[in-house]
Amino acid sequence: MKIPFSPPYIDASVVDEVVDTLRSGWITTGPKTKELEEEIRKFCRAGQVLCVNSWTSGAILMLRWLGVKPGDEVIVPAYTYSATALAVLHAGATPVMVDSGEDFNISVAAVEKALSPRTKAVLPVDIAGFPCDYDALMDLVKTPRARGMFKAGSPVQGLLGRVLVLSDSAHSLGAYYRQGCRTGNETDVSVFSLHAVKNVTTAEGGAICLNLPEPFDNEAVYKELRMCSLNCQTKDAFTKSKAGGWRYDITGLGMKINMADVNAAIGLAQMRQYDRLLSERKRVFAAYDKAFSACPWAICPPSAKDGKETSCHIYALRVKDFTEEQRDRMIEKIGEREVAVNVHFIPMPMLSFFKGLGYKMEDYPQAYRNYRAEISLPVYPQLTQEQTGFVIETVIAAYEEVKAETR
Ligand SMILES: *Cc1c(COP(=O)(O)O)cnc(C)c1O
Repeated sequence: MKIPFSPPYIDASVVDEVVDTLRSGWITTGPKTKELEEEIRKFCRAGQVLCVNSWTSGAILMLRWLGVKPGDEVIVPAYTYSATALAVLHAGATPVMVDSGEDFNISVAAVEKALSPRTKAVLPVDIAGFPCDYDALMDLVKTPRARGMFKAGSPVQGLLGRVLVLSDSAHSLGAYYRQGCRTGNETDVSVFSLHAVKNVTTAEGGAICLNLPEPFDNEAVYKELRMCSLNCQTKDAFTKSKAGGWRYDITGLGMKINMADVNAAIGLAQMRQYDRLLSERKRVFAAYDKAFSACPWAICPPSAKDGKETSCHIYALRVKDFTEEQRDRMIEKIGEREVAVNVHFIPMPMLSFFKGLGYKMEDYPQAYRNYRAEISLPVYPQLTQEQTGFVIETVIAAYEEVKAETR
């Protein structure tokens, strides 16, 4: 039984929505992108939502808006997908990596230790779709100690008067931060990824949620950022295409990272049925939880705690006491049975580029322990009960085999 890791959810409604866009005569940024922004905004009750062409470009845009400069520091977890730190580097600042907790997410205590007068932002990551401790992070950046240390280096930083919390919510669209409250409205800024492997996709894409405090006007910031995502051109192509709308100005050095309507159409059709898609993901996640909580060797990933609830993006299973080599052997054996699994994530200090920059894995012991015995199992709405059962069987058999080899 061949089981892929994360195929996109493409049904007739998705195809119809894309075809509708193709036939409409307008395929780049326009009405469908606006509609998708509105769907996401209502879904997570965010102040404003701007769609762009990736999580990465959205994060760079927000860090540039914040006005980070060389020498400025942005705190990120060592345990995440590299885009989190690469965005910081692209924006010209230095990523300061910190360790994680046993729940995979950034350690707030480690963030507190890493704060310096150069810190301009913190980028917590909702690993696998389980929200970080936002209350603790938002409280931390508002403490007298953190505020006292903060040095504003741009007009936006001056208005904020403290470190910005920009959450990497690439995985967590649909997760609950507390009862009735979804991710996307808790931190100053959250960015969702709409990449092909994420819960909701536009093939490539990102959604920036703005929940900036007073004195910021989120609607005004939305308009400014939207223009920045279109080369800082005062008129978008949609407006300019209308008769008499030819004249425009360029007001600054922007980026060209807008989302096209033909992409937005995919996500729009998915958002309209996302509640159902989420419950299908939950079904798969719960089947894994039931099976693996009965295995004394398995550590199940966090799913629900203190009102938080995962978006079931990834099932991050861990094997107690396995070494990295044993975990790799287990993945090999699972692969032989044609079940695609993954590892989320190889901590950044283990990757050549970051090693070259001087980051050292020894500095992040919990991130290493999380990585060492982690295997991500496939979770998506299309997985049938039979397929889910086959994944469970395969994983258990692979564990037994590797265990027997090393006895
Ligand atoms: C996928 C992912 C990103 C990057 O998303 P893109 O839309 O591909 O730029 C960033 N952070 C995390 C944690 C991710 O998993």
